[in-house]
Amino acid sequence: MAAPKVAVVGAGVIGLSTALCIVETCPSCSVTVLSEQFSPNTTGDVAAGMLIPHTYPGTPVHVQKQWFKETFTYLFAISNSAEASEAGIHLVSGWQVFKSPPKEKLPFWSDVVLGFRPMSEAELQKFPQHQFGQAFTTLKCDCPPYLLWLEKRLKATGVQMYTRKVADLWELHSEYDIVVNCAGIGAHQLVGDKKLFPVRGQILQVHAPWVKNFIRDGDGLTYIYPGIHRVTLGGTREKESWSLSPDPGTTKDIFDRCCSLEPSLQEAQDIKVKVGLRPSRHCVRLQREVLSQGGVKLLVVHNYGHGAGGFSVHRGTAKEAAHLVGECIAALQGSSSRAKL
Ligand code: FAD
Repeated sequence: MAAPKVAVVGAGVIGLSTALCIVETCPSCSVTVLSEQFSPNTTGDVAAGMLIPHTYPGTPVHVQKQWFKETFTYLFAISNSAEASEAGIHLVSGWQVFKSPPKEKLPFWSDVVLGFRPMSEAELQKFPQHQFGQAFTTLKCDCPPYLLWLEKRLKATGVQMYTRKVADLWELHSEYDIVVNCAGIGAHQLVGDKKLFPVRGQILQVHAPWVKNFIRDGDGLTYIYPGIHRVTLGGTREKESWSLSPDPGTTKDIFDRCCSLEPSLQEAQDIKVKVGLRPSRHCVRLQREVLSQGGVKLLVVHNYGHGAGGFSVHRGTAKEAAHLVGECIAALQGSSSRAKL
């Protein structure tokens, strides 16, 4: 059969990394990315991009750990290469602090990040309101440069990218053999997934170049994540809120919470406020589906619903989605050789 034509819908971190994994595992495919928005207008452009996993209750922990490990290994290699600054990937060390010791002393990802250990008494003195803490080194993606780096790699391999809103996956059946759905929160409308809901997040990006270590309150709500040029201060988690407008009261609340963890932030300058909708689900939807109308079939692979942890697991889920695309190609080749007999 001719080179299979694959359309990836969505150009966020999930769509771009999935397109790249498909090209890497199936170089004979012709891959096109179709998306309503590209960077700087995706959810990832708002994200802090820290590699600290979020837990998906509907996915086995060993699978989540594998996704995280693959992502960490991939980005660690980039951070150790001459590509690191263009790709916006860097190592960052810091502390996760708790007002009372957590039930789970060793999170499942503790042996994937580097140098995970309990904080010393001397380190804890910096946080008088907290009793317990964990120190480790992880990776951070500065998201807009990373998305542009992925786009550049895709273009270099001949992947076409078009701005297009897809109203229904079926509209692609006459142009493509396989469609990969990486529409993030857009999948709510695109495939009518009622299990997918937004968790609104508001963050601040500030100029505070003296802040070099990350600080995260163990509840995951208040965090200070230094990037290459700016520091991200967070945050909020508002379930089922679709509003993309910044709320001034929330801005003050985030700033005050972060200053109580790191008082020197009172001197931070040039505060920018951003809002994004985390595409949340009890588990990432990573599966094949066959759509069919009047005897005509369209093979679909879904890869969406990464919620608060899309950057932390993107490479692992992209590899799994590319594997599912490989299965679709094998099925197409099987049916085309049967048709010839
Ligand atoms: P998106 O980036 O939303 O991409 C979806 C794409 O699909 C877009 O290009 C969109 O235009 C396109 N699309 C949608 N519908 C259609 C359609 N009908 N037709 C064509 N195109 C369509 N994760 C971490 O791991 N670490 C963090 O520190 C972190 N911090 C975060 C902080 C905040 C405030 C927020 C909001 C999120 C954070 N996240 C973090 C989560 C992470 O940003 C998301 O999980 C990730 O960006 C989701 O990527 P995505 O590609 O699925 O979605």
